[in-house]
Amino acid sequence: MLSQISLKQLSNILELPETNLLAIFSEKTVTGITTDSREISDGEIFVALRGKNFDGYEFTEIAVEKGAIAIIVDREVPVIASKNIPQFIVKDTLNAYQKIAHWWRNQLTIPVIAVTGSVGKTTTKELIAAVLSQRGKVHKTRANYNNEIGVPKTLLELDKSHDYAVIEMAMRAKGEIALLTEIARPTLGIITNVGTAHIGRLGSTEAIAAAKCELLEQMSPDTIAILNHDNPLLIETAHKVWQGETLTYGLEGGDLVGQLIDAQTLRVEGINFPLPIPGRHNALNYLAALAVAKVLNLDWTPLTEGLTVNLPSGRSRRHQLPNDVLLLDETYNAGLESMIAALELLKQTPGQRHIAVLGTMKELGDHSPQFHRQVGETVKRLNIDHLLVLTDDPQAQEIAVGADGVTTQCWQTHQALVQQLQEMIKPGDRILFKASNSVGLNRVVESLLNDQ
Ligand code: ATP
Ligand code: MG
Repeated sequence: MLSQISLKQLSNILELPETNLLAIFSEKTVTGITTDSREISDGEIFVALRGKNFDGYEFTEIAVEKGAIAIIVDREVPVIASKNIPQFIVKDTLNAYQKIAHWWRNQLTIPVIAVTGSVGKTTTKELIAAVLSQRGKVHKTRANYNNEIGVPKTLLELDKSHDYAVIEMAMRAKGEIALLTEIARPTLGIITNVGTAHIGRLGSTEAIAAAKCELLEQMSPDTIAILNHDNPLLIETAHKVWQGETLTYGLEGGDLVGQLIDAQTLRVEGINFPLPIPGRHNALNYLAALAVAKVLNLDWTPLTEGLTVNLPSGRSRRHQLPNDVLLLDETYNAGLESMIAALELLKQTPGQRHIAVLGTMKELGDHSPQFHRQVGETVKRLNIDHLLVLTDDPQAQEIAVGADGVTTQCWQTHQALVQQLQEMIKPGDRILFKASNSVGLNRVVESLLNDQ
């Protein structure tokens, strides 16, 4: 956590003029910095961010009452003016927060590993962190702190005791990854893939590829890129903007080639590794983590013993019910590629019946009907036994259209879906749940678990 810096230093980072108040307190040291007045503790700086639905400015008084020793605001707070609390008045408080995070990151000389891509960022970040934890103290992106506020927050949580930083970088639009890269100044950059997430905003997969490759464009030439070989558009786009050192990984080829010996074993350079998380897509994610270890000259041997990874909820989660019923909980999010990957994983999971419970994929714009149909077609191609669709949103109907011929039922409410499942579940069933997070399929999974 950012600490031991003086208010004077902070003022210099923000390139602000000296004020009388600051002159008095300039040597006072900061114990931390936060944007959330609920989290603030004594000696910290409060940054009043302004969002669509909130204005941190309104919380400055509370922050000061709770112990903030200075505030960063975009206009003066008159009620605080009478107190001995310096106010750093800047044009853009988010930009100020990012500047401080960037400065703090620059005080550290550890490897900073950035992970971006259309899908698999969190999973890959967790796998990398688990691999590196065997060798040192790792700080990784917590929760979903992967955007223009989250990345600075993650960097500001770093301290001198950390040996590695693993930073997830997400984007919704062009220019965002470039900004995050400038702030975090990664020494290693990983792009897991280029898919169709956010295609509604970006327009085409080429535009998505270019947006992901902003990471490489902004990375310093003496850093290293780790790229998924099996994604031709990614490799092609990367070549245009990146001439630096590169290590590619893949199941189909690349510098580091993995081979899936069976569902649980990945073979790389003659060594067998137990897969920490099942599924072909997770084998690719794990290869990225092995690539990081290789680039950092870490010994792979301990990994042959296996690795424990606890992914955040709704991703590759497995819930075992009595009577050998297994729920595959992928309710955290969904896009075309991750739907297909999860359906393949379902099919590969040994059991009696394979059941897919699916809902809408959001933010697909004009591509939405086509992609939903493609998901349905995949259900059909894989011979999934039973399809249940939550059609609270008409887009999801298209899944059923694509799956024409598969035994399918559509339900408009969560409750009806739960009831249907309770009636139909039989011993040996393997049931996948997947949709965009806002669809709330997690509630269906919870109802089934609570019912036990
Ligand atoms: P977000 O954009 O929401 O942060 P993310 O990129 O962090 O997503 P994860 O949370 O790691 O992605 O994975 C989300 C889902 O995508 C997983 O539950 C899994 O179904 C699927 N998935 C993970 N890795 C891959 C991959 N390499 N290829 C395809 N699908 C994947
Ligand atoms: Mg994520």
